[in-house]
Amino acid sequence: MTTPLVLLNPGPVNVSDAVRAALGNGDLCHREPEFSALLASVAAKLLQAFSAGDTHEAVFVTGSGTAAVEAAVISLVRADRAIAVVDNGVYGARIAAMARAHSIETRVIRSGWSERPPEEEVARVLDDPNVDALALVHHETTTGLLNPVSALARLARERGKLLLLDTVSGLGGEELDLSLVDAAVCTANKCLGGLPGVSFVLSSRAAALRMEEAPTRSLYLDLKGYARGQRSGSPPFTPAIQIFWALEAALDELLRETLSARIARFRAVSEFLRRRFVETGLELYLPPELRSNTITTVRLPRGWTYPELHDALKREGFVIYAGQGKLEREIFRVANMGAVSMSEYQRFANRLASLIG
Ligand SMILES: *Cc1c(COP(=O)(O)O)cnc(C)c1O
Repeated sequence: MTTPLVLLNPGPVNVSDAVRAALGNGDLCHREPEFSALLASVAAKLLQAFSAGDTHEAVFVTGSGTAAVEAAVISLVRADRAIAVVDNGVYGARIAAMARAHSIETRVIRSGWSERPPEEEVARVLDDPNVDALALVHHETTTGLLNPVSALARLARERGKLLLLDTVSGLGGEELDLSLVDAAVCTANKCLGGLPGVSFVLSSRAAALRMEEAPTRSLYLDLKGYARGQRSGSPPFTPAIQIFWALEAALDELLRETLSARIARFRAVSEFLRRRFVETGLELYLPPELRSNTITTVRLPRGWTYPELHDALKREGFVIYAGQGKLEREIFRVANMGAVSMSEYQRFANRLASLIG
């Protein structure tokens, strides 16, 4: 194998040797008790890691994070009802696009990419009795912006609406009060440190009931089908079995480290990187109060295009990430959510400083 690359993109992330080795745990048939046991174990460890065993059920989907987000969006809105969607980045916009693709009436609350959503407008949209749920991105990967989950969750709960949270890049990296969330959607291969191919929804009792009332809008992305299958020990379609082994190993590591220590470690790395970027003369895109623990959005240094900077760093073994949409030519992103040591981050900061300094 060639020298491994240090992945500073927001997933898929570098994984530990134990997670990679777990892929070799063995071949299984998903209709046999061995797989039911694996599924139950992964679900239990997930709920344990996020202290959600009393309030939520873990429902797995084989597919990338987008699969579980789309499954949640289309499985939690009743016929002839609407979904309210906060859009302050690419992933919020994608949720609205998913709802529209399935002809679900969509009320979008839009704000700038470096702004918190307007709470009065969210409240006003949620006052409409036809709106069934509020969908929100926890950590907008577009910019690394943290949305105010608790405040918006309160607005939803006061009005009896479900809260659907895309926390694909948040869970395991940020504090989150899951008791406020009816459907928390995440993937194995961002802050959890597993491999790509499995995603999941942590679903509340209210969400489980709502799924039974909502129409079946897709065969493959029908969340209630996965929930029912799982309760009987076997998912409806072939799961990515080896990726479950890897997720179990990643959850063992998270439980050993503890969630609060994981979050603190990511926070310390992002603080280190931001300090070094600023010392190097780089400008950060977001104001400090909106920044997450795991993504730093940096304005491109003068005289560099993104492809030039990307290629120069990749030659040194580091993969940075481009801006999306209107930020494509303005910024680059550095994520710190994988199994990467502090010394690698130091080496990266030094290489970047000497390149552009
Ligand atoms: C990565 C990401 C997704 C999509 O995940 P995929 O695994 O690429 O499908 C969705 N939402 C957010 C906020 C993300 O960061």
